[in-house]
Amino acid sequence: MNKPADMQTIETVALWINGRAQPAASARFGDVTNPATGAVTRRVPFCNAADIDAAVKAAAAALPGWRDTPPLRRARVMQKFLQLLQANQKDLAQRVTGEHGKTLPDATGSVQRGIEVVEFACGIPHLLKGEHSEDVGTGVDCHTVRQPVGVCAGITPFNFPVMVPLWMFPVAIACGNTFVLKPSEKVPSASTRMAELATEAGLPDGVLNVVHGDKEAVDAILNHPGINAVSFVGSTPIAKYVYETCAKNGKRVQALGGAKNHAVVLPDADLEFAADALISAAYGSAGERCMAISAVVAVGAAADPLVALLKRKAEAIMVGPGDKEGVEMGPLVTRQHRDKVAGYIDQGIKEGAKLVLDGRPRKVPGYEGGFFLGTTLFDHVTPEMKIYQDEIFGPVLAVLRAKTLEDGITLVNGNPYANGTAIFTESGGAARRFENEIQVGMVGVNVPIPVPVAFYSFGGWKNSLFGDLHLHGVEGVKFYTRTKVITTRWPHQDTPAPGLNMPTLG
Ligand code: NAD
Repeated sequence: MNKPADMQTIETVALWINGRAQPAASARFGDVTNPATGAVTRRVPFCNAADIDAAVKAAAAALPGWRDTPPLRRARVMQKFLQLLQANQKDLAQRVTGEHGKTLPDATGSVQRGIEVVEFACGIPHLLKGEHSEDVGTGVDCHTVRQPVGVCAGITPFNFPVMVPLWMFPVAIACGNTFVLKPSEKVPSASTRMAELATEAGLPDGVLNVVHGDKEAVDAILNHPGINAVSFVGSTPIAKYVYETCAKNGKRVQALGGAKNHAVVLPDADLEFAADALISAAYGSAGERCMAISAVVAVGAAADPLVALLKRKAEAIMVGPGDKEGVEMGPLVTRQHRDKVAGYIDQGIKEGAKLVLDGRPRKVPGYEGGFFLGTTLFDHVTPEMKIYQDEIFGPVLAVLRAKTLEDGITLVNGNPYANGTAIFTESGGAARRFENEIQVGMVGVNVPIPVPVAFYSFGGWKNSLFGDLHLHGVEGVKFYTRTKVITTRWPHQDTPAPGLNMPTLG
């Protein structure tokens, strides 16, 4: 844990339990830093099992009333919440920049993508409609209803402090569940603020609760018998741990993990267009996006001109504090993470990759305490190298070379991660083949970061998602509800009495 911050001047982020800001029972705290300056700006409580239990008790107490609130009324609360999020978009984006480091326009865009999930959740009466069949037997009807799962929990990563929590709790709550959110301890303040706004929107006390902390808080969630379902987004090792622990404890779970997203660039692609797209996908948010492109597979003659274009465009990117006008790429989230990413650049050189552009020396005058790293480009990377195998999660782009589209597809399919991928080509046939054969959850055709819009679902395959159902969209509604199938017969309708045999259509 970090050194204690000055309690006199620095705000402590509150928990939000039962409709109120609350201090934690735990006496452990961590520091929240501004990545552009390195200064400690807030401190965050690291909840213990008693704090988690208090949040779960509040969620359990709120459940019967909220579950029985008609979906249309639940949707009206979501509509009010939507308005409040829109009115507070700038403040939320500033919190994202202040704690994560990404630029303000990028933060604003990520808040917008989260708000769109709330727009989706406003349609919940329609989304909860079941099926009905008349006369499945003589005088017998059958229908389905989707009912809430109960108390749900969400555990979220540092890189989208507003958007990823909004992928989860609006859908869960609109479905009639109550919720305990545990955001990343590196970026905690936006979640408490969103819970405050949800209460202002008319959400009953206890329906949405926010706790903070590290492994201790997560373990208390995973092992709490009062929690029925867990949504997790974060790195692959923790996703796997969350998935396994929840499965052992009989909880419904979806655990989204890390990524190594490839873009395959064919020689017939518009290379200028592809390079612009790749620059944005590799270096936007300093590469700290689960859908960032971190590996480019340049096919045949595309390689040399593409690398030249990428180098020219990458070195022109303006690096600086995220709240400064004109800055295109901010710092990394913590000093520790910045140093880890810089270590991968050292490693790539040792492994024999060709360093085309080195971000390590980049300094930002006036921000010497910030966690900055410049844009970095490697060429001639091979699948045996650690810089290819590991998720670096920083502004480091690796170019691999392949002879044919087939080789490119084989390379992508051989990677254990499978979150997103993209192909750049002018050929419909090549794109169609890629779409069909690629073993990845989200695919872009001339779209570098194919993050699905809110009314589709978000999720990868293989080591990028443990579980079945993706987040938000129709799959989100399925995750947060259980189906009940009801078969109905009304007596005294001139239908024969059932015998002892298995009923069949008659
Ligand atoms: P992380 O796995 O370190 O942390 C995620 C959450 O787990 C946090 O709330 C954290 O407090 C908690 N946690 C951390 N260590 C833990 C432990 N040992 N036991 C229990 N809980 C623990 O991830 P991060 O560094 O915050 O986020 C970056 C990662 O998230 C990257 O790997 C990125 O690809 C991934 N990510 C994935 C998606 C996706 O949709 N697949 C989206 C965003 C981020």
